Amino acid sequence: MSQTYDVIVIGAGIVGLALARSHAVRGRSVLVVDREDRTVGATIRNFGLVWPVGQPPGTRFERARQSAQIWNELAVEAGVEIHATGSLTLAHSDLELRVLREFAAAFGKGIEVLWPEEAGRLSPAVRTEKLVGALFSPHEHTVNPRTAPAAIIRWLSERAAVQFRFGLVATRVEPGAVTFADGTRAEADQIFVCSGPDLRTLFPRELAAAGVTVCKLQMLRTAPQPPGWKLGPALCAGLTLAHYDAFALCPSLTELKQHFAQARVEEMHWGVHVLVSQNGDGGLTLGDTHEYGATHDPFQREAIDRLVLAYLEEFARIPERSIAEHWTGYYPKLAGKSELVLTPMPGVTLVNALGGAGMTMSFGLAEEIAAVGAPLS
Ligand SMILES: Cc1cc2nc3c(=O)[nH]c(=O)nc-3n(C[C@H](O)[C@H](O)[C@H](O)COP(=O)(O)OP(=O)(O)OC[C@H]3O[C@@H](n4cnc5c(N)ncnc54)[C@H](O)[C@@H]3O)c2cc1C
Repeated sequence: MSQTYDVIVIGAGIVGLALARSHAVRGRSVLVVDREDRTVGATIRNFGLVWPVGQPPGTRFERARQSAQIWNELAVEAGVEIHATGSLTLAHSDLELRVLREFAAAFGKGIEVLWPEEAGRLSPAVRTEKLVGALFSPHEHTVNPRTAPAAIIRWLSERAAVQFRFGLVATRVEPGAVTFADGTRAEADQIFVCSGPDLRTLFPRELAAAGVTVCKLQMLRTAPQPPGWKLGPALCAGLTLAHYDAFALCPSLTELKQHFAQARVEEMHWGVHVLVSQNGDGGLTLGDTHEYGATHDPFQREAIDRLVLAYLEEFARIPERSIAEHWTGYYPKLAGKSELVLTPMPGVTLVNALGGAGMTMSFGLAEEIAAVGAPLS
């Protein structure tokens, strides 16, 4: 027995859910399948940061802003938890401040450089002692990544008649049909493969040929902060300037990266730059570290966590510092590219490798793909 849909989406992470939404709201019948019993991949393991300020101006920034708008619509329609927090990027040297000034001048869009006292007024976590300035961006939002997928799935099922089948592995995709590990099949004009870091099951040769690799990240979460204590804007500091593509437009970035290469050897080696977000129970989500490779060892390195916590201590004052949770996240990444959209056969599209920006970019990207309206070939 084979059931027929307009669209089949493989993977119920944020990329698959965004594509399901964009097609369903255009009146197409959609089936979403996932190998797990619920969404447990990168989509629930992240900071929940919708972070347009990390995207270069132009198409990518506008895509991120459109995603933020859709997240806000889903907050109203689907009950997704979202906070319009904005963000602060903290500078602790004249060189970091120079980069921030260059960025604000070039970028515009309400992004401005604040004095230390102004930044301190926005967040009780900001250490102002050694602060020389901060970049404030009003565009960032924090969603709750642990509860958002379930809320979106419920809404898509109830309001848009999207069908979900969990615990089902897609083992074979051909034009017009997907075969599952239990021997069943489903048919559709358009099939989207959004299988995240599983680069082995579906289209392994195409993913390898495109150069997709997997990034491993170590994450931490504090116990809930005291009642009433609010982080305010999501926080990061100078090391983040070396991480996001957006800052490439700053003439002084090269000098700053050279400085980090000498002064922050361990942080650069493990790809450490620290982001802080808060949602849900009031705990703070902390990270970001980056190791790249096809197969990762399963062990978390305490030394990397210590680097994150030491850097955090340099710029933030956190009342409740005990760590309640440690975990590892994985996402696929394509060096030098913001995503992979590949059509290996008629009507079959791989949408993957949004790297560390899937929460920021998926809804906007899905709208662009669905607006094409016909099978991509
Ligand atoms: C630690 C961490 C922090 C991050 N922080 C942020 C952030 O703050 N902001 C931001 O914008 N982005 C962030 N990201 C990136 C973002 O989380 C990812 O880009 C995004 O979640 C990727 O979504 P996805 O749907 O591609 O993958 P996933 O969420 O991994 O989903 C893929 C799904 O496909 C399913 N699947 C795979 N193969 C099959 C198959 N053969 N059959 C059926 N199902 C299959 C899997 O079970 C899985 O559920 C972070 C990522 C990590 C890991």
